[in-house]
Amino acid sequence: MTKPRILVLGSSNTDMIIKLARIPRPGETLLGGKFTTAAGGKGANQAVAAARAGGDVAFIVRLGKDMFGDQALAGFKADKIDTRHILRDAKTPSGVALIFVAGSGENSIAVASGANARLTSADVRAAEAAFPGSKALVMQLETPLPTVTAAAKLAKKHGVPVILNPAPAPSEKLPPALLRLVSILTPNETEAELLSGIKVTDEASAREAAHALLKQGVETVIITLGAKGAYLHNARTSGLIPGRKVKAVDTTAAGDTFNGALAVALAEGRDLSEAIRFANVAAALSVTRLGAQPSAPARTEIERLLK
Ligand code: ADP
Repeated sequence: MTKPRILVLGSSNTDMIIKLARIPRPGETLLGGKFTTAAGGKGANQAVAAARAGGDVAFIVRLGKDMFGDQALAGFKADKIDTRHILRDAKTPSGVALIFVAGSGENSIAVASGANARLTSADVRAAEAAFPGSKALVMQLETPLPTVTAAAKLAKKHGVPVILNPAPAPSEKLPPALLRLVSILTPNETEAELLSGIKVTDEASAREAAHALLKQGVETVIITLGAKGAYLHNARTSGLIPGRKVKAVDTTAAGDTFNGALAVALAEGRDLSEAIRFANVAAALSVTRLGAQPSAPARTEIERLLK
C-alpha cells in the first residue's frame, strides 16, 4: 500500500529538562539536578507520530539557524519526513522549552517560541505546492493563529480535510471563521471546557461540550479523555471509544501521538471509530515510554497491539 500524504503545520521545540529534588524558588540556585534534552514541540511531535504510524509526512515549520534547529532537522530526516517546506530563520533562535521536574512529579515549564512565532501566512502561501494531494492537514496552536487560519483556507481550496488539535489551551474561544474550516477538532478535556464553556467530567458532559463545539461550525469533535479513551461526536454518531489499558510511565505527547496516528488512519480510509481505535492504541503505546518524540510508536507496534 502506498503511504498516504499527510501535511503537518506547527511548532518544533527542544525540550531541556532538569530533574531535581524540588523546583527552585526565585533567586535560588539549586545543585544536584540531572539534565536531559528531548525533541518536542506539538507540531514536530505530531509530524513524527504520523510518519511512524505510516504516513508520508511533509512538515511546515520555522526553525532557527542554530544548533537546535540542525538537530531537529536531522531528527525529521531520520523519520523520513519531507523537509522541503521547512524554513530556517537566521534572525530568531529555534523554539526551546526549559522544564524543571521535581521529585514529586510537579513541573514548571517556560517556553520561548522563537522561530515558531515567526511562521507567517506568507510562509504558508509559499508552501502551497504541498497541499494538493494531501489527505489531511494537521495543526495545533503553538504557531500564530493567523497562520493556522491561512493554512486552513488553503486546505479548503485544495479539498484537504483539516484536523485541528486546539492545544495548548487557547486563552479565548477560537474565531468561527477558523472553526468553520475544521473537519475534525481534537481537544482534551481542559481544552474542550475552555472552548465550549462546559466542564468535561464524564461521557454526558463530553457529549454536551462536543455538541456546543459542533454548533460553532466544526464538522466532527473528538475529545480525548486520557486513559478513558476518546469521545466522538458529529451529526451522525456519538459515543466513547475506550482507550487501551497500559502501565503509564509518561503521558507527555499522548495527545500528539493520538493526532498523528488519527490522521494516518483516516487518510488510509478507516471510518472515524476505527481511526480512533488505531489512535488510542498508538497513544497508549506512547504513554508506556519516556519523552515526547522518542515515545511515538512504529506502525508495526501499533498493528501488533491493535489485533
Ligand atoms: P493530552 O495529552 O493532549 O492531554 P489526553 O491525556 O486526553 O491528551 O490523551 C490523549 C490520548 O492518549 C487519549 O485519548 C488516549 O488514547 C491516550 N492516553 C492518554 N493517557 C493514557 C493512559 N494513561 N493509558 C492509555 N491511554 C492513554
